[in-house]
Amino acid sequence: MSNIQQTTNSTRALGLVTTGQPCSDGAGVQLTRLIGNNELSMLDPFLMLDVFQSSKPQDYLAGFPSHPHRGFETVTYMLAGHMRHKDNAGNEGVISPYGVQWMTAGRGIVHSEMPEQESGLLKGFQLWVNLPKKHKMTDPHYQEFPADKVAVEKRADGGEIRVISGRTDNGTTGVVVNHYVKPTYMQVTLPENAHFSQSIAEEDNTFIYMISGSIQIGDENKTLVENQLGILINGSNVDLVANKASSFLLVSAKPLNEPVARGGPFVMNTRAEVMQAYSDLQNNLF
Ligand code: MN
Repeated sequence: MSNIQQTTNSTRALGLVTTGQPCSDGAGVQLTRLIGNNELSMLDPFLMLDVFQSSKPQDYLAGFPSHPHRGFETVTYMLAGHMRHKDNAGNEGVISPYGVQWMTAGRGIVHSEMPEQESGLLKGFQLWVNLPKKHKMTDPHYQEFPADKVAVEKRADGGEIRVISGRTDNGTTGVVVNHYVKPTYMQVTLPENAHFSQSIAEEDNTFIYMISGSIQIGDENKTLVENQLGILINGSNVDLVANKASSFLLVSAKPLNEPVARGGPFVMNTRAEVMQAYSDLQNNLF
């Protein structure tokens, strides 16, 4: 049977699989948009997921010069290379490999995100997490942690779990403290043949993005390989086996189920609120 609707346990199954769409953003940065495109417009509360990965400076040097945000949070996680950010409230810093920046844009910030290098590999992710309607206009806030502040759970099989937010079944807790949406965000690295299991709230929307390797997911042993994002559906547990040495992001959160109105760097609940954001920006109210 390959189309079982009801299973006897609550192991999540692999649903939609996508490799995203290549695109250009900022001042001409080449990236792959995995969430927030025509194929997968969002995975509530996740509005966007970009992966940027290139050793060619012309793909990233232009960076993301000064631009605004309102109404959501941006999560930047680096695997290779360095990004410098700077904003109109005087915050500035550099995100380096395995470091994370969790920025709550709230009612508004204007910032730049520029590569802090002129050659070599730049690789990382930016995830956009929506804010609930009642917190969209909260004060902007940053949480930034270098690699050595990010909890790493060492597994007996030699694998490891880097916990940015949320909590593993063994109790390792992410360093980021979230007050609004409270996603689980972890990077899991496994040796060949390793099993991995993690409980997830039944109502969550959950995805895995394969950084490298190949895994088999759920009771049906469906395969997910490098550069694929897979949505994991129906269940309270993620169960998988590594077909070979593998590394992936596991990201999960409860959906907001609220209306979404997008306008470029602004994500609000209504069109009028998006127009207000443009007006506020023009009037220097950010
Ligand atoms: Mn930005």
